[in-house]
Amino acid sequence: MKALLKQYFGYDEFRPLQEEIVNHVVKGNDCFVLMPTGGGKSLCYQLPALKLDGVTLVVSPLIALMKDQVDALKTCGVNAEFINSSLSPKQIAEIYGRTKRNLVKILYVAPERFASESFKSFLKDLKISLIAVDEAHCISEWGHDFRPDYRHLSLLKELFPATPLIALTATATNKVRDDIIGQLQLDKARIFISSFNRKNLHIRVIEKKQAFQKLLNLLQKYRRDPVIIYCYSRKETEEIAGELRSHRFKAKAYHAGLSAKDRSATQELFIKDEANIIVATIAFGMGIDKPDVRLVVHYTYPKTLEGYYQEIGRAGRDGLPSECVLFYTYADTRKHEYFIDQIKDDQSRERSREKLRDVMNFAQLSTCRKKYLLKYFGEELKEDNCGGCDICVAKKVFAGGQTPEYGGTSLKFDAAIPARKIIAATVLLENRFGKNYVIEVLLGKKIKKISGYGHDRLPVFGIVSDLSADELSQVINHLINLDYLSKSEGRYPVLSATKKGMVFLQGNEGLEMPKLDAEEKISQIIEVKIKKGGLTYNQELFDGLRVLRKELADKANVPPFVIFSNVSLQEMAHYFPGSEKDFARINGVGAMKLKQFGKIFLKVINGFVKENNLSRIEIPVKK
Ligand code: ADP
Ligand code: MG
Ligand code: ZN
Repeated sequence: MKALLKQYFGYDEFRPLQEEIVNHVVKGNDCFVLMPTGGGKSLCYQLPALKLDGVTLVVSPLIALMKDQVDALKTCGVNAEFINSSLSPKQIAEIYGRTKRNLVKILYVAPERFASESFKSFLKDLKISLIAVDEAHCISEWGHDFRPDYRHLSLLKELFPATPLIALTATATNKVRDDIIGQLQLDKARIFISSFNRKNLHIRVIEKKQAFQKLLNLLQKYRRDPVIIYCYSRKETEEIAGELRSHRFKAKAYHAGLSAKDRSATQELFIKDEANIIVATIAFGMGIDKPDVRLVVHYTYPKTLEGYYQEIGRAGRDGLPSECVLFYTYADTRKHEYFIDQIKDDQSRERSREKLRDVMNFAQLSTCRKKYLLKYFGEELKEDNCGGCDICVAKKVFAGGQTPEYGGTSLKFDAAIPARKIIAATVLLENRFGKNYVIEVLLGKKIKKISGYGHDRLPVFGIVSDLSADELSQVINHLINLDYLSKSEGRYPVLSATKKGMVFLQGNEGLEMPKLDAEEKISQIIEVKIKKGGLTYNQELFDGLRVLRKELADKANVPPFVIFSNVSLQEMAHYFPGSEKDFARINGVGAMKLKQFGKIFLKVINGFVKENNLSRIEIPVKK
């Protein structure tokens, strides 16, 4: 199997669980695969398909994706085809013919085909060696993306009782999983679940304040790389895309209000590397498998962690380090609540509220964000420091108080004094007021509500002068996280001091917390980490190869990543392979790509090496 992996896909190693799954499948067994986006599910059926003698059927819901996947397979030298409603009857008949003559190894089909008698009789004449149901959660009404056409698939086991079946998905609660297994009659299937920790994703939450300026700063680092920015409303996507264009970014808006034609044109620009920034509502993402998205921004915090996880999952499928940045402000809560309030059913409204609170908790954590996220999905993260979230990065830096990269600046500060003032105010306000009110009292705001209550005569009125409202709010969040303060649930949450908080108030302990301006520092540290996480390569050559890739892709009318991934280009711009033998060792170079593209890439690489008098680096031979 490893030889096939290299021959066709050019990869030297399997990703976690791929090898086990592939071996299980080629032995003729059923299985259910739960693996995160970007985990490499496709290979789990594509590789067995190449080993087995008949044809492999792949059921997949997204017409737009089928073409990309088939193009990618063809470029790797695999005989793949697809059948869906985008083809004419004549084209379909032609593919039927070639499949019957054993000229097609992998056949992608849309689920609604299984309702057609002519399709079913076509299948009867074939030797089907394997059936794969991709995005298998679409079969379940309990899932988030139910497709009624997937219901036809419950026939599969009856039609092909002896054919191994593999169902794959990145999202399945236990309920959805049981539903998939039940409907596809996979009762004998082995279940493979891989870790959902995407190590190459660096996640962080920043305060949504001067947000657009922060967004611009962030995007400066991604002038050429693909970026997705998720917004709250259609209007917002248009505005932000427009603003970004006026700052000379190649940004396009994408939302469900656009015509189907405009939407697919925008997707096309993105997939073909012609517009690198998509500003979208959540409607964007399902139809693309772009592997090199480097940054996913949530400009408004999302409604659910399920949605959040899926959306950030679109970053870094190629395995290279990538960044996910969430802009958080409590003020955005109102936008979500406006919609939640309109849900008629009491139970589902309450559930939506709970889910929203989970996201808010996530955004306000002072402990590892990945741990929280994984736990939410039922997985335990073993490491104490994930190394991939802002909190863990900060912890590492704050713990020593010293970071070599930043001249030993301490990023901690002692918040004991403001913390005691906050707790005292909470108590004096009889644990009956909300966070904003407590802050207004501490800052001595001259407003009616305060004087009306006579709270301007409290000793805590106006005793904070060195911190802003936002800073106080961060200290309060920290106190809530430490369980010194508790915040009630409901529409109008109030703050109250806990027992722990009272003990702290009366004692003289210190209270260290991340410095309030640490955001920028953390961002710089993550930037350095991301750079270090990848290969160091010659940027100029990389850019040149990127241009070459784009030319070849346009000529073949395929997305650039189908020719070579960024991983491959980076390796080329690091090792400078000089001969076909060396070129073949580059990750992602299989036999077909070597033959098709080897000479032309080598010419550019060798020319560049000679011109700049560079020395080549030996490419390690992988087992
Ligand atoms: P999923 O369907 O799980 O989201 P894909 O099958 O689309 O993931 O794979 C994501 C990316 O990872 C693709 O670009 C694919 O080429 C790449 N990939 C998959 N397996 C490997 C591997 N063993 N080595 C290197 N890259 C891989
Ligand atoms: Mg997939
Ligand atoms: Zn972490």
